[in-house]
Amino acid sequence: MNKILKFIMNPGRKAKRVSIAIIAFSLILNTFLVYITGGIPSAFAHTMYLTVLIAAVFLGPWVAGVTGIIAGLLIGPLMTYVLLPGHGEEFSSSLYRTFYFVLIGITMGDLLLFLKKQLAILHLHHTHDVLTNIPNVNYYLEAKRDNDNPNPFVALTLQINNHEELIVLIGNEAYGAILAKMHQLICNFLSPEAYAVFVDERRFWIELSHEEYHHVIEPFMAYLEQMNLVSGTIPLYIDYSIGVSLTGNPDDIVDRFHESDVASMYAKKHFLKHAIYNQSHEKDQSSFILLGELPQAIKENQLFMTYQPIVDLKTNTCQGMEALVRWQHKNNILYPGGFIPLAEKTRLINQITEWVCMKVISDYKTYDFTGSNFVISVNISQRNLYEPLLIESIVEKIRMAALPDYAIEVEITESTLMLNKQAAENMLKTLSLEKISIVLDDFGNEYSSLAYLRDLPIKKIKIDRGFTMNIVNNNNTRILVKAIIDLAHDMGYAVVAEGIETKEILNTLIEMGCDYGQGYYFARPMHPSDISGWMEKNSKK
Ligand code: C2E
Ligand code: MG
Ligand code: MG
Repeated sequence: MNKILKFIMNPGRKAKRVSIAIIAFSLILNTFLVYITGGIPSAFAHTMYLTVLIAAVFLGPWVAGVTGIIAGLLIGPLMTYVLLPGHGEEFSSSLYRTFYFVLIGITMGDLLLFLKKQLAILHLHHTHDVLTNIPNVNYYLEAKRDNDNPNPFVALTLQINNHEELIVLIGNEAYGAILAKMHQLICNFLSPEAYAVFVDERRFWIELSHEEYHHVIEPFMAYLEQMNLVSGTIPLYIDYSIGVSLTGNPDDIVDRFHESDVASMYAKKHFLKHAIYNQSHEKDQSSFILLGELPQAIKENQLFMTYQPIVDLKTNTCQGMEALVRWQHKNNILYPGGFIPLAEKTRLINQITEWVCMKVISDYKTYDFTGSNFVISVNISQRNLYEPLLIESIVEKIRMAALPDYAIEVEITESTLMLNKQAAENMLKTLSLEKISIVLDDFGNEYSSLAYLRDLPIKKIKIDRGFTMNIVNNNNTRILVKAIIDLAHDMGYAVVAEGIETKEILNTLIEMGCDYGQGYYFARPMHPSDISGWMEKNSKK
């Protein structure tokens, strides 16, 4: 709020005393002015309105009303001297003028009182969170703005990691009350010079002096840990992370807290209670820039498909390919590990899966894989299961393209199946109704529950490349892989081994009775136009 407005809003005792003196002086001055300029017939009487207005602004409607009466009396009946002869003023005229002074004084005073109250409410909402009534960032920035000579300080972000769970558990209102209680406890612990302000429902910004920070940070964290917060009868555990910025210019307040925010996110991600900002934390954020570029990349066809052969180990012929997406990002090719996990955290993964499926369908037709009885496997992400319309639209596209029944199969990982069993079962049902086979990808990597898979329409199991690659050197892995292959066969599944890099690995898998293989030993993922060349070369072997 600017200084003049602040002064008018809240003049303070001293200013009130000064304004009483100004009003008294102005009453006398104006009376004198009216007197020496010929009395009432001249327009100088109007200057009295200014006096009444000053009283309305600084002292309220009633004092302004009284000022109006005094002003009216002074330049009315009490001013006996009228310069123009024969023009003495009627009593009713001076009463009328006095009435107007009082009316203007009371009305303006009342109006200003109302405006001041409204401004005070607006200012409160501007500087405090509406739900919790905790001072917010505006409050803090306003307080800092008035300080012409800022000292270096430590910026600290206190992040509540489990705020979503807490809100779901106790509701927004009760959570607001918990935040207010927490804020009060934090303020009780810190010195009165420290600031602790509300940023949003999961963050407080705290400003400490360097000295206080070094003294209190450890006890402060212990204090937060044992804070007893209860909502009704529900005891609450607050899982927090603290990010700290120790560097920089005290003038760049928001930048300093940006650093402490980044550090608190880093702390949360790495399960730390406390992290001090350094520039390497920002690297974590560069992936988000990539995420922002993805929608455009999909639109502009910067994504492209590669295909890696899957070989039938009994006949040594190519049975199909796995479709693996790539991103031509400026001058680099990005591999899926660099952007798929990011996209999987958002709904963008649905667009990618849809794009991949359309591309695979069109490649299947363009490169005429039909003649080679090819199966192309497409990877589906967990988040895709939450979008039944996506699966239906993919199925519809495959149907419209009139590809052979066997042409497309879908790879999903075990974790995808286990994390959302109901959605997975629904999707598998929709797919199997369309005769689209399901391959369980990266088997052995996580849950490895063949018992659960028994009831699902799965055709193949793909052994994770982590196992395949160790099969020669590690006896236990060999025993495990052999057991998986035998069990899978007994349950009626075909087995694919991914990550075959050497002849030795291949031979071991053939000995174990593995059905299909995929890996650099056969071929790396390739552009679709290279497939027929690769097939020709390999059929001559
Ligand atoms: P994945 O489905 O298990 O795919 C196999 C990965 O292993 C591929 O990596 C492939 O290039 C790599 N690979 C194959 N043979 C060998 C080998 O002999 N040695 C080694 N070291 N690696 C081998 P890529 O293409 O980088 O894909 C990584 C993961 O990204 C895939 O794992 C899959 O989970 C995901 N992904 C790839 N494309 C897509 C896609 O279009 N959609 C979705 N949702 N995920 C995809
Ligand atoms: Mg796969
Ligand atoms: Mg895999």
